[in-house]
Amino acid sequence: MTKPAKTISDKEVDAAYLVESNFGTRDERDHYHPYKRVGYPPIFVWPVQPLKGLKWILSIPGYFLPWNFLYILIGIFSWYYLSPSLEDYSQITVGHIFICFAKNSLLVLVYFGIFHFHFYFKKNQGRIFKFNPKWPNKTEKRFLFSNQNMDNIIWTFGSGVTIWTLLELSILYLAANDVLSLIKVNDRPIYFLFMIITIHLWRDIHFYFVHRAIHWAPLYRHAHYIHHKNNNPGPWSGLAMHPTEHFLYFSCALIYLFFPFHPLFVIITLTHAGLSPAPGHAGFERFVSGKKSFDIDSHAHYLHHKYFECNYADGILPLDRWFGTFHDGSPQAQDQLRKRLKEQSPKKV
Ligand SMILES: [Zn+2]
Ligand SMILES: [Zn+2]
Repeated sequence: MTKPAKTISDKEVDAAYLVESNFGTRDERDHYHPYKRVGYPPIFVWPVQPLKGLKWILSIPGYFLPWNFLYILIGIFSWYYLSPSLEDYSQITVGHIFICFAKNSLLVLVYFGIFHFHFYFKKNQGRIFKFNPKWPNKTEKRFLFSNQNMDNIIWTFGSGVTIWTLLELSILYLAANDVLSLIKVNDRPIYFLFMIITIHLWRDIHFYFVHRAIHWAPLYRHAHYIHHKNNNPGPWSGLAMHPTEHFLYFSCALIYLFFPFHPLFVIITLTHAGLSPAPGHAGFERFVSGKKSFDIDSHAHYLHHKYFECNYADGILPLDRWFGTFHDGSPQAQDQLRKRLKEQSPKKV
């Protein structure tokens, strides 16, 4: 087994590896395989388990905490403290575009930056819980400037935050000009709450089908291959996508063209889409903080980056299980994937 990075002492490495060995094992290539299988909450099982489901909704980790609630809070903060007022969206000026772009860039910079800083800049936990033992590549020609992080950051801000911002401005422009109908919280409080707490579910469904669509060979070759250059992803890989993919990915917010909405719905939906890829692409299973570590739910999507044709969804709805594309990280699931790919017409992805 290769020694972890030298950012922690040998003694600490020994102790930390002991901890890692409680959670998983390393193969002959030093790749980390968690013992814990990718799974789904007890809410989508048969026969139904209402008590377990309810407990999961309210527990940590659960439906709300930590991630979903965090994105809702950041969305609320973004709308009430960082965004222009709704009236300002009625006339889109260069100044408004700049403010919205700067606001969304700031969110991405801080949030993605936290994961990058901890895992890759400070290397606070060395390679403990890192799936792939290698660090981001700085010599691969397939990346812009042969540098994975630089490539990822360019796509993130140059295309990702730009398209996110343009979609936000366009939808709120239509709303501010009364082309789309808006609601007030006091007028429809139940509808308001229902829509806020189901944004996560809507994003799961939208992401699954968009993701399957971009694995269709022509779309893959046109756009999605950029994201899949990252077979050893880091946080910045999360939004490293082609503009076509960014548009499809952030199009989850276009649902509000069809329903009355509150501007917060748009902001939270886009914030959720914009920020949630950071932990999902961290490249580590767990975040170590002091003597504790917690699961950051990245295993399912790491397997997608490693094996391509599995785990298209990355959330709580068991869509991959329902559509036969689920991989739980076990050797049995790996055999099933191989079998499934053999049965399908051979295609290069
Ligand atoms: Zn990905
Ligand atoms: Zn993919």
